[in-house]
Amino acid sequence: MKQFTLSFLIITGLLLGCQICLSAPRVFRAGAHAIDVTPTKLPVRVAGNISEMWKSDITDRLHARCLVLDDGAKLVVIVTVDSCLMDREMLDAAKAKASVETKIPVANMLISATHAHSAPAVMGVHGTEPHLDYREFLTKQIAKGIVQAYRNLQPAKIGWSVGQCDEYVFCRRWLMKPGTAFSIPFTDAKTNLAQMNPGSGNTNKIRPTGTPDPSVTVLSVQSISGKPIALYANYSTHYAGAPGISADYFGVFAEEIGKRLKADGDSPAFVGMISNGASGDVNCSDQASSARKKYDRFIVARAVVDAAMEAHGKIKFRDRVTLGMTESEMALRVRKPSAAEVAEAQAYLDKNVKDRPIKTWPEDYARETVLLSKLPDTHRFKVQAIRIGEFGIAAAPCELYGLTGLRIKKDSPMPLTMVVGLANGYSGYLPPPDQFQYGGYTTWRARTSMLEHNAEPKIRKKLQEMLTHIKQSQ
Ligand SMILES: [Zn+2]
Repeated sequence: MKQFTLSFLIITGLLLGCQICLSAPRVFRAGAHAIDVTPTKLPVRVAGNISEMWKSDITDRLHARCLVLDDGAKLVVIVTVDSCLMDREMLDAAKAKASVETKIPVANMLISATHAHSAPAVMGVHGTEPHLDYREFLTKQIAKGIVQAYRNLQPAKIGWSVGQCDEYVFCRRWLMKPGTAFSIPFTDAKTNLAQMNPGSGNTNKIRPTGTPDPSVTVLSVQSISGKPIALYANYSTHYAGAPGISADYFGVFAEEIGKRLKADGDSPAFVGMISNGASGDVNCSDQASSARKKYDRFIVARAVVDAAMEAHGKIKFRDRVTLGMTESEMALRVRKPSAAEVAEAQAYLDKNVKDRPIKTWPEDYARETVLLSKLPDTHRFKVQAIRIGEFGIAAAPCELYGLTGLRIKKDSPMPLTMVVGLANGYSGYLPPPDQFQYGGYTTWRARTSMLEHNAEPKIRKKLQEMLTHIKQSQ
């Protein structure tokens, strides 16, 4: 009898316990951490140029800025890294390391490069070779940063909004009078009618070929008592520039937004972060006006911080949201050169370059032609969609054109969507198909622009499907 009563009590207790589990309100939590990733060995080659460029001065520190969100059922990781470009293999390794300790699935991790052109090269692109030791260091630091952000999880509230900063988003690609656009061999461009940064005084330019997105999208996380934990923003301009090794305006933004939000120095420290949106054909430099506005990383950061703060003022914070995240692998054709083109490029290199680093545009594109011929015919990459309540994030590993970002947002079923480029790998520029007829740098066949002509609509369609799917998640 006694045994029966005990069993009865245990079973009833378990059932009640389960019911309590099921009906217990989910507690939303967030944790953030910025980990230093400044190179320790100098000088370094920085990415983002046609020929290699070395820098030995540290202008400001580089970071991997990590945010972990937890709705009580799912965890999502968002990271920005002060880097120009990072390939999938490296980021997959960082995610796998972080997953071992946190048990967060790698498919729930979004890591993007800010596109600072003043950070050490971690992948080979144009004439710049990667620093393999720095790449290994960066991989470990990203993983450590995620783990620490996970350890910093605390009950939190979250909100999102959007502002606008049209001062530093200009289409840098212009349609030119026939025969006047910059042209070089080995690019697969039959004609070039488009030119990047033609100059405000250039009378051969006709009109910009694209439309920038001036949005400053903001996701803000606070403790239950209202202490800022992190602010994750997004803006669609290429970069601003810096003299030495630097996090560019992305780093200045991260510092400034903390000051403006009056984040104190208490541990865990506030983390400001900004991802790069759709800036493949967009930069800070107004090619239309002869009275071009002066800018540097501080000026750009302050303007974007102003817009972010205005958006922040409109945020309605929630202490419960549903998180959802989905990741898909896409496989698209690589625009590979013909055997004749490869032979011509190789002959040019043998005659003019031999074993020295490349110095000129034709040398670079001859080398890229040879390198592309050795790649698989199909390029595989990840795209992601995240849902944070009614807020959506779409991420692709490309340098998206401004118009592509605007289209993804317009087609999104979410009331507000952020578009993150250079995410989870690097698949090059993603010109909308009609842009190939104009030629110009961002369409030229290289590792920086290698996907098939119809890649842009295919990626947009996939992201729209994923956002639609994720909107239904519970
Ligand atoms: Zn760039």
